[in-house]
Amino acid sequence: MRALTVIPNQAGSLSIAEVPDPQPGPDELLVDGVALGICGTDREIAEGSYGWAPPGRERLVLGHESLGRVRTAPDGSGFAAGDLVVGIVRRPDPVPCGACARGEFDMCRNGQYVERGIKQIDGFGSTSWVVPVDYAVKLDPALEQVGVLMEPTTVVAKAWDQIERINQRAWFEPKTAMVTGAGPIGLLAALLGVQRGLDVHVLDRTTEGPKPGLVADLGATFHTGSASELAERIDPDVVIEATGAPAVALDAAKINNPGVIVCLTGVSTPGSDASVDVGALNRNIVLDNALVFGSVNANRHHYELAAQALAKADAGWLGRLITRRLPLERALEAFDPGDHADIKVVIDL
Ligand SMILES: [Zn+2]
Ligand SMILES: [Zn+2]
Repeated sequence: MRALTVIPNQAGSLSIAEVPDPQPGPDELLVDGVALGICGTDREIAEGSYGWAPPGRERLVLGHESLGRVRTAPDGSGFAAGDLVVGIVRRPDPVPCGACARGEFDMCRNGQYVERGIKQIDGFGSTSWVVPVDYAVKLDPALEQVGVLMEPTTVVAKAWDQIERINQRAWFEPKTAMVTGAGPIGLLAALLGVQRGLDVHVLDRTTEGPKPGLVADLGATFHTGSASELAERIDPDVVIEATGAPAVALDAAKINNPGVIVCLTGVSTPGSDASVDVGALNRNIVLDNALVFGSVNANRHHYELAAQALAKADAGWLGRLITRRLPLERALEAFDPGDHADIKVVIDL
């Protein structure tokens, strides 16, 4: 079969290669790849700055944003040929740590977890793949065109789940949410906020392209400009930062509103030289009982929440998040940085 492969830590090594067909084990599904989403993590791996090959191998099959159709399933597994499925990305560490022992491998404490298409196990960027039944999640059949958005949706499903769980600390009836960044994570975070009945405001740096229309069609409000100024106008109860831009993350952490909870989801590059008045920042966080926390990855529970959120969403709206589709032969083009209008690039398998 053909696969999108890379030599981790070697820029320019990305290529479409012929690799052996996968052989399903007794507890595994054999899946025909339908589509693969490409994100910043894949681009970092392609640039040679992230990623680990499987032990004893040079190349890694890239791709963690999966969508496939079951070809064969073990009897009694709850899956059948033709089911639309997504594979969970992370696997618990072998020790396991306390979190992994409880199925919370997204919160792994010792870093010895592995991840499909990222860290030491092959990803889903191939015309077929296998996945253990316990790490497969079934999707509504109506999601064939957009189910590839599942993995980024799990990231925001976890973020919202964490926001709600952390805020069990006191009375919490949020009315207003602010999302910084109208990329796939920001727009999906906004979708889940609207599904919760919140008044959602999305900030992005440009009004070009489909983003303002996508936000408006959710029933949310689109803004450009400064995060600090927007926060002063709307007094958000919840902030989800999805740009990873250091200046925006800092503005989010500085939001001065009693009880505000700020969830950081963007992975930024170290080395920002922004100067910060730490005294003012600390004072505001204390006096507001504010909360700033980070969230990444997802466990099985979040995949189930994400599958429900996607099934409830308008499939036409979700489809508009996919701004480019490429066949596998042209997969390398997906790694060209798109323009501001690009939201999600998908490879058809
Ligand atoms: Zn991703
Ligand atoms: Zn662990």
